[in-house]
Amino acid sequence: PPFAVADPETGAAVKAADRAHVFHSWSAQAVIDPLAVAGAEGSYFWDYDGNRYLDFSSQLVNTNIGHQHPKVVAAIQEQAAKLCTIAPGFAVDVRSEAARLIAEVTPGDLNQVFFTNGGAEAVENAVRMARLHTGRHKVFSAYRSYHGATSTAINLTGDPRRWPSDTASAGVVHFWGPYLYRSQFHATSEEQECERALEHLEQLVAFEGPQSVAAIILESVVGTAGILVPPAGYLAGVREICDRYGIVFILDEVMSGFGRTGAWFAADHWGVVPDLLTFAKGVNSGYVPLGGVAISPEIAATFATRAYPGGLTYSGHPLACASAVATINAMREERIVENAADIGERVIGPALRDIAARHASVGEVRGLGVFWALDLVKDKATHEPLVPYNAAGADNAPMAEFAAACKKGGLWPFVNMNRTHVVPPCTVTEAEAKEGLAALDEALSVTDRYAVNG
Ligand code: PLP
Repeated sequence: PPFAVADPETGAAVKAADRAHVFHSWSAQAVIDPLAVAGAEGSYFWDYDGNRYLDFSSQLVNTNIGHQHPKVVAAIQEQAAKLCTIAPGFAVDVRSEAARLIAEVTPGDLNQVFFTNGGAEAVENAVRMARLHTGRHKVFSAYRSYHGATSTAINLTGDPRRWPSDTASAGVVHFWGPYLYRSQFHATSEEQECERALEHLEQLVAFEGPQSVAAIILESVVGTAGILVPPAGYLAGVREICDRYGIVFILDEVMSGFGRTGAWFAADHWGVVPDLLTFAKGVNSGYVPLGGVAISPEIAATFATRAYPGGLTYSGHPLACASAVATINAMREERIVENAADIGERVIGPALRDIAARHASVGEVRGLGVFWALDLVKDKATHEPLVPYNAAGADNAPMAEFAAACKKGGLWPFVNMNRTHVVPPCTVTEAEAKEGLAALDEALSVTDRYAVNG
């Protein structure tokens, strides 16, 4: 594996300039203490102090092909030498090829692609398309979801990140998706949870007025809000509700798409095809900002003779498209989606179940592919979360101490509320996965101390 060389002086200068001038996302500027990163390769990145970290977060669940994949780096360099930018109104080889490949790998007949710079813009445009296509206004989205931080996307989001900016949520209706471990429906089996969640959704549609509902948006497998894998019939059931009332079905695969779940898209596990699918992140592992909406022929037809009122200067940016083409080709050539499925099923899943059996603070393990969560609890019997919902400061100490212990063990974890997610790159090797799981196992002795019988 790549080696970290210590250069603390440069690290200190990078950090000082950052603290003087960079305004960070989601953070109190005087409080945060960002790590200065010197470099990265594959599943690892390293700082200026000689510390190397195995990246079990994939940089916000983004680097599906790992850091600095040589084929993708070369494609960006070649494209930069050829044509750095061109407005969205022109036809250009890399954009055409990226759209063709995305249409090929996305589910069913989603054959046209609207390009954006990331996930939130994809959600914004999918919702706009749905509203214009149906002539209706309301959009349903799930509690325990994340859809991005722009105006519409944050209002759709079903977690506490919405609270401070929830000033314009007119037309958004939230519903409960299935989550058996903390069932909103008092269900005792996946079948019951599925049935009751679908009943609940259809009831809300009925009471809101189906003729006013433009779209239902959900994550095929909920990502940031907990890696919630839906029961077998759930997505197909939502598809049926949408069909019954002429509602557009939007699947947000910004996090779950492009191999993350061990399939090209999470919806593929259940053979469900939405009307619109949003993507970003794994499309090119974020090497250059890129996202988009894959569009069904029916919705595309709405805009055949009527102009689509939306666009972005950088839509289908050549450097982004070149990196997407190289990424999709590399994923096929190197069987990276198959690797994610194999490592998940054979290595990560069994290891996490073993960890859960041995640790007092691990309540539930869920996931598939390289998309897993450990739900940490105070009490395995009651499922009470290890930290309160949206905990901060001293209330969040168990999770903060856990994260620190991981880092001390050379592991960069993904931590959200009372959960840690195991989301390494789709390219992760068996040896790397085992190295990370061992560090995780050790760090969980910290959270066990806060749990009953720990
Ligand atoms: N949708 C989902 C499911 C996401 O996980 C995210 C980001 O994590 C977004 C949308 C927003 O994407 P971006 O941060 O690229 O705007």
